[in-house]
Amino acid sequence: MRTGKIELICGCMFSGKTEELLRRARAVDPDRVILFKHSRDDRYSATEVVTHRQDSHCAVTVSDSHQIPARVSPRTEFVGIDEGHFFAPSLVEVCRELACCGCTVAVTALDLDSWGQPFASIVRLREQADTVIVKHAICARCGQPADHTQRTTPIVDGNIVGGPEAFEPRCLNCWTPPPEEPQ
Ligand SMILES: [Zn+2]
Repeated sequence: MRTGKIELICGCMFSGKTEELLRRARAVDPDRVILFKHSRDDRYSATEVVTHRQDSHCAVTVSDSHQIPARVSPRTEFVGIDEGHFFAPSLVEVCRELACCGCTVAVTALDLDSWGQPFASIVRLREQADTVIVKHAICARCGQPADHTQRTTPIVDGNIVGGPEAFEPRCLNCWTPPPEEPQ
């Protein structure tokens, strides 16, 4: 029986999290890989995980993490979950269940929202992960390493998802929270 593990790949937007996920997925036999994405994340494609550089990999779209285990076959070695912060905190139990079955479960996630607050599900996942990979972007203002996501357009009707044009990476010194109330 294989030994499973949980890998968290976190950082701000544009830090290369999804590139890292695809690099890891492609190191495994394609027949033993499955990727998932949340149905809320349709910024580039509803059926693929897509990086900001337009690299892509087919993915199964789910609206709740509890839909994931039934889609994973006993042959699966690598389960990738993109944009893990879209999922409820029960994502952590699903990742543990899959890791206990011998899967490597790699999750990409923002660690902070646009207001600089941590996502509850990712705080829990960080505690449970066997490996935490922290990615950095380059601050769009000053060129220093960036770990915050700057909202650059107004939040309309509480829609915080937004396309890539609505965000840029910033360091803490250059970052300011959006004027709207946190969601
Ligand atoms: Zn900066």
